[in-house]
Amino acid sequence: MRIDLHTHSTASDGTDAPADLVRKARAAGLDVVALTDHDTTAGWAEAAEALPDGLTLVRGAEISCVAEGGISLHMLGYLFDPAEPKFARARELVRTDRVRRAEAMVARCRELGAPITWERVREIAGGGAVGRPHVATALVEAGVVADVSAAFTPEWLRDGGRAFVGKYEIEAADAVRLITGAGGAAVFAHPGAVTRGRTVSDATIAELAEAGLAGIEVDHMDHDDTMRAHLRGLAGELRLITTGSSDYHGTRKTINLGEITTDPESYGAIAELATGARPLTP
Ligand code: AMP
Ligand code: FE
Ligand code: FE
Ligand code: ZN
Repeated sequence: MRIDLHTHSTASDGTDAPADLVRKARAAGLDVVALTDHDTTAGWAEAAEALPDGLTLVRGAEISCVAEGGISLHMLGYLFDPAEPKFARARELVRTDRVRRAEAMVARCRELGAPITWERVREIAGGGAVGRPHVATALVEAGVVADVSAAFTPEWLRDGGRAFVGKYEIEAADAVRLITGAGGAAVFAHPGAVTRGRTVSDATIAELAEAGLAGIEVDHMDHDDTMRAHLRGLAGELRLITTGSSDYHGTRKTINLGEITTDPESYGAIAELATGARPLTP
């Protein structure tokens, strides 16, 4: 069984429509794929509709969070009830503030001499949850930077960078409670992604475990071998499930679907824990 539990579609900052993403997932030899767009479930229906034979769809989302008084992090939620009102409202608040914040980042870029427009960024986002990768794509189009990752520097959009503007984010322990309260399983995405910005301490991960965290993403392109070994040890101590995923974003990142996977036992444990939605088969 080949299982990839973290992917993005055009419902957020990926470049494949949900229907194309599930088709490509099957073509890449996957048996299970999770769709985990940022702060939204908007891609679920299209992915379910287009689900090819032999592929199981895990419906999820990746929630924008904050901990330790200002460190941004991402919390994956799997198989939760999308209609549960408290969690649905929280996602909506984040999405609404994403729009304000993206517009403010465009204004900052323009002040810094980059000829991009909010109209174009909105078009690139195409109705999906708007984020820095969309602004980054506009910067690439305008010839300001060579590629999307070159926009994630202190000169432009990196955390704390010249054109960076923060957004509303959910306190991480609250996000864990919101996800589990909606019947889902919470998994901390790329907890050791030091290249993206500051990361939280092991003590904070232990606190999240107390709040009901089910697992941590260990195998991820932003973790080197040392980090993976450390996180695996921590998961053992805290009795957390470990996952591995591509964090596929289509052409906005270099990694492909299924390049990093989760073992069947870990997937089984997540599917058993979560009661808010079932994994879907065609
Ligand atoms: P946002 O949620 O709007 O703050 O944007 C964060 C997103 O930007 C992440 O989900 C990644 O898709 C992308 N991202 C973060 N850091 C980098 C990077 N160094 N290079 C390319 N994309 C990145
Ligand atoms: Fe992303
Ligand atoms: Fe993430
Ligand atoms: Zn992600």
